[in-house]
Amino acid sequence: MNAHVSQGGWPVLVLNADFRPLSYYPLSLWSWQDAIKAVFLDRVNIVEFYDRAIHSPSFDMQLPSVVSLKSFVKPSTHPAFTRFNVFLRDRFVCQYCGAPDDLTFDHVTPRSKGGQTTWDNVVAACSPCNLRKGNLTPHQAGMFPKQTPFAPTVHQLHRNGRLFPPNYLHESWLDYLYWDTELDP
Ligand SMILES: [Zn+2]
Repeated sequence: MNAHVSQGGWPVLVLNADFRPLSYYPLSLWSWQDAIKAVFLDRVNIVEFYDRAIHSPSFDMQLPSVVSLKSFVKPSTHPAFTRFNVFLRDRFVCQYCGAPDDLTFDHVTPRSKGGQTTWDNVVAACSPCNLRKGNLTPHQAGMFPKQTPFAPTVHQLHRNGRLFPPNYLHESWLDYLYWDTELDP
C-alpha cells in the first residue's frame, strides 16, 4: 500500500458496538493500518473519515477517523493503573497543597518504608511538597493527602475526564466523547 500518510499519524478512535469508546483511559485508539485491516476483515464499520485518502494500484480509500466494532465487547470497569490515570483521579492538583503545577507522584507510605506503587499509595504531589515530605510517612511529615487514595472506577475517571478534555482530539471524535447522558447528574 503506497500510503501518503505517516506510520504514526491519523489515529482511529475505536467505538464499541454501542458507539461508546471501547475504553476511555486509555482512550481506545488504533493505528490507521490496524483500522483498515479490521475493515477488510469485516470486524468494524467506518463511522467517520479523515479528509485524507490512501492510494494503491488496486484501490483508493479515504482514511477512517472513527470505527465501531460489529460485535459488542463488555467494557472493562477497572481502569489501568497509569500515571495519567492517577493525575486524572486526583484532578491534576497536588494532594497536599492543591497546586496545579509542577506535578509529580508521591508514595504516601514511602517505598523505603514498604509502600507499594498502587492506587491506594500513590498520589499527585507538586515537587515542593514531594521534596518536603521526602522519605517520611504522613504522620512523620505532618502531611496528609486531601483525599485518601483509592482505585477509581471507569465511571469516576470518566467524570473527571470531562473536566479535562485531552489536548488533541480530531474533531470527528468529539461527538463520541464526554457526552454520556447516563453520566449526567
Ligand atoms: Zn503541593
